[in-house]
Amino acid sequence: VFDVLVLGAGPAGATAAIYAARKGLRTGIVAERLGGQVNETADIENFTSQLKVDGPALGSAFMRHVQSYGVDTISPAVADSVERTEDGLWRVRLESGAELRTKTLIGATGARWRTLGVPGEDDYRGKGVAYCPHCDGPLFKGKDVAVIGGGNSGVEAAIDLAGICRSVTLLQRGSALTADEVLQKRLAACKNATVILNTAVSSLEGDGQTLTGIRYTDKTTGEDKTLSVAGAFVQIGLIPNTEWAAGTLERNAWNEIVVDSRCRTSAEALFAAGDCTDVPYKQIVIALGEGAKAALSAFDWLIRNE
Ligand code: FAD
Repeated sequence: VFDVLVLGAGPAGATAAIYAARKGLRTGIVAERLGGQVNETADIENFTSQLKVDGPALGSAFMRHVQSYGVDTISPAVADSVERTEDGLWRVRLESGAELRTKTLIGATGARWRTLGVPGEDDYRGKGVAYCPHCDGPLFKGKDVAVIGGGNSGVEAAIDLAGICRSVTLLQRGSALTADEVLQKRLAACKNATVILNTAVSSLEGDGQTLTGIRYTDKTTGEDKTLSVAGAFVQIGLIPNTEWAAGTLERNAWNEIVVDSRCRTSAEALFAAGDCTDVPYKQIVIALGEGAKAALSAFDWLIRNE
């Protein structure tokens, strides 16, 4: 039986495991993939103290730090469901059928960006195709970019990018933007931003090295068009990996686990941290801090309830 079992080994889970182990608690970490989303990032330029760090290298450094504390690492392993048993423990069922038992549980299973699923998207990911304007916006300084998606995150991204890039074109599938009125007005005031409605993106084009443009159908006229851009920010949703929490924990309309300021969830002795929660702004430094908070809350729970 673990004192603390952490689900997920991205920035939030790794930090939670380090904090728990440093309290002398019997700690385990279960992860589908060690390191989390940072593995998908070429250059990270907003990790305080490092001007530029390579994502996979940062992910490996997280795991070396976790392993230096002798944390039991179970990976690759996917948590399927969790249940609080009559003896007051949490039982975690893995996809393999194996079960783990723990006094406290920390969910740090992160999120995944919703992808367009069109040709070229995988080929040019990180080579023009981007998902996070806070992360990658500055890489496109002075260039022409597009944002795909006209909800709040798409329009916010377009406003943000208009301040950095030469031009921003927002492509929306429907006949109107769905973002809040105040954001739409703000975007309309950006002189270098254009909105094109009724579009269906068919492929992301490149020269073999980097993205060069977006092919789309103008659904009003049926015409096929190409928009020349150096960057395409796909903003059609972030999906939290919280399927394991369905029916057990309170989740919001976007399926994010609802947490309070101490990373407590709606269930006793179960804490959550990082991109899988409703904490605003999904960033590495935020996930690190949330992971630390969740572990300290688990420690606090143990000293009060043991
Ligand atoms: P994640 O990193 O998503 O880690 C989740 C962990 O949980 C992984 O180990 C995963 O395998 C595991 N997992 C998921 N489901 C299960 C399950 N059911 N059972 C077991 N394990 C599971 N942020 C920045 O601050 N700066 C950047 O420059 C930056 N660039 C980015 C570029 C890209 C392409 C992407 C995708 C993201 C970027 N981000 C950036 C965002 C940042 O990576 C995330 O905010 C951060 O990784 C979230 O950390 P996390 O620990 O909450 O989740």
